[in-house]
Amino acid sequence: MTYVIAQPCVDIKDRACVTECPVDCIYEGSRTLYINPQECVDCHACEPVCPVEAIFYEDDLPPDWAHYLAVNAEYFTAAAPDPRGPRDTVGDHPLVAALAPQSPSKKEISVFTARKEEAADADLWFPS
Ligand code: SF4
Ligand code: SF4
Repeated sequence: MTYVIAQPCVDIKDRACVTECPVDCIYEGSRTLYINPQECVDCHACEPVCPVEAIFYEDDLPPDWAHYLAVNAEYFTAAAPDPRGPRDTVGDHPLVAALAPQSPSKKEISVFTARKEEAADADLWFPS
């Protein structure tokens, strides 16, 4: 079983999930990120930090995005047959590459959420 990155990440790519993943199984394409199902350990750490709710446990994918289970898996088999080879910035799965540019308002949501989280994390006694 694995977690899956679905369409809301496309053209956002703020990488908040990458820093949470304990096994470094989230890789960067040109327009979105992908979770390698062979490496994901189902720890759930990435899902709550995504500002646009793009990450789902595979059984919880909304029907409209159910195909992203295959999109994530195929990205690794098609783009990099060598399981240990470099996988970041090697383009995108054809389905993602064919998507129209995603709404710029998503970018604003992402930045707003990140700032809100920074404010919540701020140490009032020892401000940086
Ligand atoms: S569920 Fe855990 S192991 Fe899987 S991608 Fe998310 S952070 Fe990484
Ligand atoms: S946190 Fe969400 S939007 Fe940001 S890179 Fe990860 S999946 Fe994409």
